[in-house]
Order: sequence, then C-alpha cells, then structure tokens
Amino acid sequence: MHTEHPLLSKELIRQLENEIPTLTLEIRALYQKLDQKLNLKGALVPITFGFETETLGSYTPAGEGIEEQFHFSLLFAGYMDAVKITREDRTDLFLHEYAHYMQYNMEIPKEHTWKPGKHGSAWKYCCSLIGAAPSEYYRFNKGREKHDYKKELRNPWSDPNAALRDIRRREREYQNSRNNTVRFSVGDVITHPDFGEGTVTDVTRLESSVRLTIQFADRIRKIDQKWLLRSAYKKPQ
Ligand SMILES: [Zn+2]
Repeated sequence: MHTEHPLLSKELIRQLENEIPTLTLEIRALYQKLDQKLNLKGALVPITFGFETETLGSYTPAGEGIEEQFHFSLLFAGYMDAVKITREDRTDLFLHEYAHYMQYNMEIPKEHTWKPGKHGSAWKYCCSLIGAAPSEYYRFNKGREKHDYKKELRNPWSDPNAALRDIRRREREYQNSRNNTVRFSVGDVITHPDFGEGTVTDVTRLESSVRLTIQFADRIRKIDQKWLLRSAYKKPQ
C-alpha cells in the first residue's frame, strides 16, 4: 500500500501503515471471542485499512462483485499518539462494525425490527449483545460510558416527540464530533491557502471545535481546524 495524503506527512503515513499487522491481530482476536459467543464467523472476514478523515470504519456485506470486508481508518484505529483516541473508544469502533456484521449474519428477533435502517433497532439489539455503544456517531469517551440498552431498545412510537428529540440530539452530536475530532498533532507541517506553510505548535480541543496554534513564516496564528480542513479539501497541494 502506497498512499499520498494532502494533510499527512509521509513519515506519519509510514508509521500508521506499520501498525496494520498488529491492529489486524487485535481486531481478529476480539472478533474471534465474539464469534465463539454468537456462533458467527466475523473473524474470517477480510479487514482493510485506509486514511479516511470523514469515516471511522465500515462493514460491507458481500454483494455482486463486492467482497465482504471490514474497513477502518488508520487515523482513528491506529495506536499513534497523533490519533489521540482512548483504548475504549477504539474497541468500541471495532464493536460498532461487528454489530453491523451481526445484522446481516444473525437472526434478529421480531420485537427488535420495529425501526428500520442501518442504525435501527436491529443494529442496536446487536450492540446490546456485545456491549457496543448503541449510537450512530462517534463521540469522545463513548467507549467508557455505561449504555442504557433498555431505553435504546424500547419502541418509542407511543411518544413521537421522543423520536424528534432523538434526531435533533443526534444531529448536534454529529456536528460536534465532526468538529472536535483532532486531526493534527504538534509538529505537523501544514499548508494554508493564504499563509503558506506552517508548523503546528499547539492543539486545543474545545467542546465543538479544535483550535490549532500554527507558526507561519511571518507569525503565529490560531486557526480553527475546521477551516484548515475545508480549505485543504478545496485546494489540495
Ligand atoms: Zn455504523
């Protein structure tokens, strides 16, 4: 695998790629345990890795011309300090995708099929069996929380406002987690469309954003990570 990435140094990419064998073993060991408990074969499914910044992982069922696979972004799954994700959150990411695998490969009891969708009630039921956070979107430290499966698995149609509140909360969580997921680390060299090349000297994670302190040729500037990512996508180097 040879990868170029507009925001990552060659060295960071190389280090993350070096983690693939260890990560693969860790995920397989976790899935083997679950397989034994559930009489499934998830540990035999190929695992691939990439450098996605917008998706953490995915499970793709076999389809016409499509190979079944788990896929994870090394930016979230990797061990590197730059990744800044707790062990629990990393494990939860692996469990989240295994729950998707379960959805396709297990019989789901009728009472848990009332809400359709990728992250519907069947998926949440699968989460409850393996201890995965029953939440569609990634949030820091979610892996450490106790999950209220009783509440998550209850059919809320008797209270339409509850469903609406749930959607709003999810949208908020999604925006916040998108905006405050740290994508840079101290020492990273970045290219800004207006200020040119600079070195990250400080990374501060705020509730719904990440503030980068960057030493440019002329002076130090504080820049919201969101804007840097956005401009980088518009003007890749
Ligand atoms: Zn998912």
